[in-house]
Amino acid sequence: MTDTELYAALKHYFGFSSFKGLQEDVVKSILTNHNTFVIMPTGGGKSLCYQLPALIKDGTAIVVSPLIALMKNQVDSLRSLSSEEGIAHVLNSSLNKSEIRQVKSDIENGVTKLLYVAPESLTKEEYIDFFQSQKISFVAIDEAHCISEWGHDFRPEYRNLRKIIQRLGDGIPIIGLTATATPKVQEDILKNLGIQDANTFKASFNRPNLYYEIRPKTKNVDADITRFVKKNEGKSGIIYCLARKRVEELAQTLQVNGIKAVPYHAGLDSKTRVKHQDMFLKEDVDVVVATIAFGMGIDKPDVRFVIHNDIPKSIESYYQETGRAGRDGGEGHCLAFYSYKDIEKLEKFMSGKPVAEQEIGHALLQEVVAFAETSISRRKFILHYFGEEFDNETGEGGDMDDNMRHPKKQHEATQNAKKLLEIVSKTNQQYKAKEIVNVLVGKTNALIKSHRTDSQPFFGSGDEHESKYWMALLRQLLVAGYIRKDIETYGVIKMTKAGKEFIENPSTFMMTEDHSFKEANDDAIVSQKKAGDAADQDLYRLLKAERKKVADKKDLPPFVIFQDPSLEDMALKYPITMDELSNVHGVGESKAKKFGQPFLALIERYVEENDIIRPDDFVVKSTGSNSALKLYIIQNVDRKLPLDTIADGKGLDMNEFIKEMEAIVYSGTKLNIDYWLEDILDEDQQEEIHDYFLEAETDKIDVAMEEFDGEYEEEELRLYRIKFISEVAN
Ligand code: ADP
Ligand code: MG
Repeated sequence: MTDTELYAALKHYFGFSSFKGLQEDVVKSILTNHNTFVIMPTGGGKSLCYQLPALIKDGTAIVVSPLIALMKNQVDSLRSLSSEEGIAHVLNSSLNKSEIRQVKSDIENGVTKLLYVAPESLTKEEYIDFFQSQKISFVAIDEAHCISEWGHDFRPEYRNLRKIIQRLGDGIPIIGLTATATPKVQEDILKNLGIQDANTFKASFNRPNLYYEIRPKTKNVDADITRFVKKNEGKSGIIYCLARKRVEELAQTLQVNGIKAVPYHAGLDSKTRVKHQDMFLKEDVDVVVATIAFGMGIDKPDVRFVIHNDIPKSIESYYQETGRAGRDGGEGHCLAFYSYKDIEKLEKFMSGKPVAEQEIGHALLQEVVAFAETSISRRKFILHYFGEEFDNETGEGGDMDDNMRHPKKQHEATQNAKKLLEIVSKTNQQYKAKEIVNVLVGKTNALIKSHRTDSQPFFGSGDEHESKYWMALLRQLLVAGYIRKDIETYGVIKMTKAGKEFIENPSTFMMTEDHSFKEANDDAIVSQKKAGDAADQDLYRLLKAERKKVADKKDLPPFVIFQDPSLEDMALKYPITMDELSNVHGVGESKAKKFGQPFLALIERYVEENDIIRPDDFVVKSTGSNSALKLYIIQNVDRKLPLDTIADGKGLDMNEFIKEMEAIVYSGTKLNIDYWLEDILDEDQQEEIHDYFLEAETDKIDVAMEEFDGEYEEEELRLYRIKFISEVAN
């Protein structure tokens, strides 16, 4: 096939006049029946690499792909390229007998150019028999990293692919494609598919337009995320959380804060999921809060930020998920919140798994820790992880991360670098990072003892620095290429040639110390402490969301239901009965009855789920002397006495008196002061203020004052608000 014909086919089927990146070379490799291996980042255009050759070549190409949803997408878009419905098919367990017959006949008649199958369907004998009698142009394995247990998405079904393909016929070319692969995973793919001879095409993993940032995760993470999103109002963003529950909560928090956000996770029914995904694509909402179930196959080019509420379990996951930002080459801010506690949580998740899997999971997690805590170029770190050299001085996007924009001070560490490398070599290259650091600071453990390393003269020779310092130095020596991690042995540190040379003839080595997220964590908590922090912030957030829900249902502003201080008090006292609720600040008996039920239910559930020990002597709010005054006010307002007369009767000034009335109506007792308001505000004015409070975000008087810009006195607004709360809320 000539180039002209190839370009004509590209134009004919896909409407493109040029190839993207390495596509042309890949297509040619497949067209000439070579085993081929393609590593291209997400969005790089891998599909076309095998789809175009499949459309051109005789016979049917089999495409193995792990996700049924993705297969359907691909088949749909292929069908749209052609007048022939049967040009592409899916073969999986969801088909009925007559559909299967149709697929087979389309293949026999040479109509079908691409057949998508799940790996488990490919193992079925009846299909294997059938394929043996057909012309198979090649087999493409999409998401080929699934074949390696060192990838982040290992699928045992991928393991037998090689054997099955061999049974399909002789000399069928195999094409592997993946978006993420460390050198170790690449090696596994080639080996397990038996295609060590493959033409390999690897695109750079550098995404120069993405900005990487890691921040400490404190208990104020909600506020941090909300603030970030607000600053980026109107831009599309994805927020990833580990747990479904957290997805729901965070989405609600954002909604309550006026951000157009929807949740997305596998626990939602498929209709809702599709709806939320559509809303995001059509920009009816700006933000999707999601588990990692979201994003596979999503092709929204202008996602401007990706936030990780929880740090992912591997660098591969982090890279893939952040990779959904800035696909159009425009701005893409990748912000992750990190706390070591989350790492411990992830380790706990793994504890039930087979030992080898745990070791791998642990090794992958340690890379994440190193990435989060490093103070060197994050881009350099990521690319090093994927086996790519990057010079952050000259490379594209070299300054696009927090560490490069706000660099920590560097200091010379040539002698210490030499000392560390010597220890690696003197201990026979048999230790992982942790043991090497232990030997330096003079900490022993069973393994070190068993080698008698703790009686060596160099044991503890670096005890003038803490472990953290040596760990940082070790990681930087890794990235600099003086040592390497041996993957097969789960991370034992080996010398490289450059490392050996360094010991002989050291060149200046500059290091920066790692971030100390633990300290940052505590600082942030202390400095951001505010009133009301004694309250359970998680519960407070849930209560706020509940209030929003109730308010929406009743078509009322939230503050009419309960005021913020009341919610705060609930989050402190955990009331679960009506009685207890009516003793919460600002909540009276009638208000408790009217609105309390869903809040009590929520608190009860929360207390149970989180094993919270409630104050068993639930403090009963004192009513005492105050209640006599309240009774006096209620009775006299009832008698329609002038307000100033009522106030005078108890020696209160107007401000104090209004405050008492506010306390009365906010806790759920009606006060009818219409007779007084009629004299100070005319009908139109009353209507205007009424409409304002009905629509307002808050019932705060200073906000209302600002809105009306001097049109009303503060006293007038406060008095009207008493009427409003009385009528609407009670
Ligand atoms: P990957 O599988 O590598 O993540 P896709 O195959 O889904 O990427 O392609 C990503 C996007 O790039 C798609 O929207 C596709 O239409 C587009 N694309 C692929 N090849 C070309 C090309 N040669 N010219 C223009 N756009 C292309
Ligand atoms: Mg793809």
